[in-house]
Amino acid sequence: MQTLVQMVYPPRCLSCGGLVDSDFGLCGACWRDTPFVAGLACDLCGVPLPGLSDRAEHCDDCLRIGRPWAQGRAALLYRGIGRRLVLALKHGDRHDIARPAARWMARAARDLHRGDLLLLPVPLHHHRHIARRYNQSALLAGAMAEEMGIVFCPDALERRQPTPSLDGRSRDERFAVLEGVIGVRPARRALLADRPVMVIDDVMTSGATLAAATEACHAAGAKEVFTCVLARVAKEP
Ligand SMILES: [Zn+2]
Ligand SMILES: [Zn+2]
Repeated sequence: MQTLVQMVYPPRCLSCGGLVDSDFGLCGACWRDTPFVAGLACDLCGVPLPGLSDRAEHCDDCLRIGRPWAQGRAALLYRGIGRRLVLALKHGDRHDIARPAARWMARAARDLHRGDLLLLPVPLHHHRHIARRYNQSALLAGAMAEEMGIVFCPDALERRQPTPSLDGRSRDERFAVLEGVIGVRPARRALLADRPVMVIDDVMTSGATLAAATEACHAAGAKEVFTCVLARVAKEP
């Protein structure tokens, strides 16, 4: 059956559309050009750091801005093919990207795996959800939960009010706009209580959204909060 499906729909590279041998996601050339996070990275946001270390290290941003979560991971940097994949998943109806992307995220976050870990996607406000028809973070969280053999709850977090576009806003403005905007649905609070949770989003820019989601999880009594994103926006080296 699998062979028949592959004959009719041979796997294609997520980036260039070329034929690939397996469901791995990317052809060899695109794989090499994709900015995967590898080696030493910030323990809070996943941004790559120079050198080697055998203890948790933090980037300048995370030293300056208090992060309310315990540890965070990113699979890719938001540039080049990394940026194209995020935009295609978010705006291009490219749901086929979610599964391989979730596999990369699960790999990036493998050291944060706990048996009772609960994955929580960052929510869209329902107006935006209707306009876009799907929440890309929920697609990622669902595929990641399957990959890691753990559970996810697509609707535990909710946006309490629509958020204006954050594009072009300064970091301080982003944090001010997002404070208190995300909450845990009252009916889901018991699910989070005294449990490790991981907040899942497609992109981390300033970290304001992840901070708002983390605060909501803490308020609901989560034991530990981790984050994992598909791509981290980072300054060019
Ligand atoms: Zn390719
Ligand atoms: Zn960092």
